[in-house]
Amino acid sequence: MASRDIHVGIVGAGIGGLAAAIAFRRAGVRVTVLEAAEQLGEIGAGIQMTPNVSVLLQRWNVADVIGENLVQFEELNMRRKDGTRVGHTKIATLERSLGRPWWVVHRAHLHDGLATVAKKLGAEIYIDSRVAKVEYQSGDKVTVETVKGKRYTFDLCVGADGINSIVRRTLFPHVRPEPPTTNCAYRAIVPYEQIRKDPVAKEIIEKLTMEVWMAPNAYIITYPISAGKDFNLVLSHHRPEKLRATETQVPIEELRNEYKDFDPRIKRIVDMIPHTSRWPLMVTGPMESWSSPQKNVVLIGDAAHSMVNHMAQGAATSMEDGAFLAKCIGAVAQGKLSLREAINLYEKERMPKAYAKQQVSFLNGAIWHLPDGPQQRARDAAMAPELEGKYYVRSSNLYGDPQTVLEVYGYDVEAHADDAIAKYLNGGREPAHPETGVTPELQQKYMDWFLVDEAKRGERIQKL
Ligand SMILES: Cc1cc2nc3c(=O)[nH]c(=O)nc-3n(C[C@H](O)[C@H](O)[C@H](O)COP(=O)(O)OP(=O)(O)OC[C@H]3O[C@@H](n4cnc5c(N)ncnc54)[C@H](O)[C@@H]3O)c2cc1C
Repeated sequence: MASRDIHVGIVGAGIGGLAAAIAFRRAGVRVTVLEAAEQLGEIGAGIQMTPNVSVLLQRWNVADVIGENLVQFEELNMRRKDGTRVGHTKIATLERSLGRPWWVVHRAHLHDGLATVAKKLGAEIYIDSRVAKVEYQSGDKVTVETVKGKRYTFDLCVGADGINSIVRRTLFPHVRPEPPTTNCAYRAIVPYEQIRKDPVAKEIIEKLTMEVWMAPNAYIITYPISAGKDFNLVLSHHRPEKLRATETQVPIEELRNEYKDFDPRIKRIVDMIPHTSRWPLMVTGPMESWSSPQKNVVLIGDAAHSMVNHMAQGAATSMEDGAFLAKCIGAVAQGKLSLREAINLYEKERMPKAYAKQQVSFLNGAIWHLPDGPQQRARDAAMAPELEGKYYVRSSNLYGDPQTVLEVYGYDVEAHADDAIAKYLNGGREPAHPETGVTPELQQKYMDWFLVDEAKRGERIQKL
């Protein structure tokens, strides 16, 4: 196969679309991004950039652009509703063994950093360009049309247009995102300055920490954002009916009442929240495919697999999708894979990952929401060794559980893509060392993680 020029069109400049734009440019592929909004930006709330994606922000130089607004925190404390500590993760220990930070950030700062780097790398980004139509039936190319009648033709169209994706609705009109339960969430920000003035609440913010108050059918998770100036809260609760759209006019008394029996320290901060919105927690799929039969239209992120928020993996998974897809399309540009092979590989490798994360996310919510009683006591006992820093091999605190940390937060999507492409090109067998028979994947899993720095990893795969 000859190398070829490829023009990718991305619908949606959210976190997933912009991350994909960066990854495509790094793979040497031309990218045009079409965004519906009249201005680039994100909603006013915090977001976790867990170690599986902080590594991408570092590699892609986005971290340098965001700077001190990427906040590191010292520890995670798992609490019962009354404030009693039941679990604990020392974040520096986790970061040291994964070799990456766990950041928390305002969405606007993250979005800004991604957009700056995408533009610097040469991505063309058009705002006020809501895509209304996707035409992919004839030939290899795909044409999209905006509501203003502007038409663009691409070799590949990537639907990164979120939960109500027009691209997904064109490909799979029968798919309907649904909340699995009546669970939904408030989001809010309170300035640290204001909390410091409260004699009771200030105890909670002596250090920069992440805190989780678990309660029957509800929880509050908090962390610092904006260079440690703002305190971000996500407040989970249940409603009598399933929620399918964001409610922007929530009476503030409803929120205050929901958490009235919580630890007085966090309750006083909840009472400082001036206004809030209530967000649905919608799940999309599992779907059988994420692409058109011609393999010239493909989905990433929430458009393909929105998930509940309890593992902080929705945006992270969107970013991983873009990074993986870009490696595959980069191989098409180099003449190593056909577009069909690239999309098939992306779906084969990424679909099981996304759907596993959907399930872990749901389960973590179930763990945090357990009713008081024997199950809650078993949960608390299963994370109790953390409090004393004792050795443990499993924990019900999934943010510190060794297995979950390695699988979810220790995952390196770009290494996964390199390995998957190398294996495909080697006839479906992992290219093993000619004498030892050891594959790059297991070499990395058991040995290289503490020996070889990541830049050298790519070289080693080339050599095998
Ligand atoms: C309470 C809560 C807390 C969360 N916390 C975290 C967290 O800590 N960490 C994490 O990783 N995830 C978190 N998430 C999930 C995360 O917000 C989403 O998964 C993520 O924003 C999805 O990114 P995306 O780019 O796929 O889609 P979106 O963010 O929805 O972006 C889609 C973009 O496409 C644009 N668009 C839509 N339609 C069109 C069209 N027709 N034409 C052109 N453009 C279009 C939109 O304007 C938007 O810019 C949380 C979610 C909730 C509800």
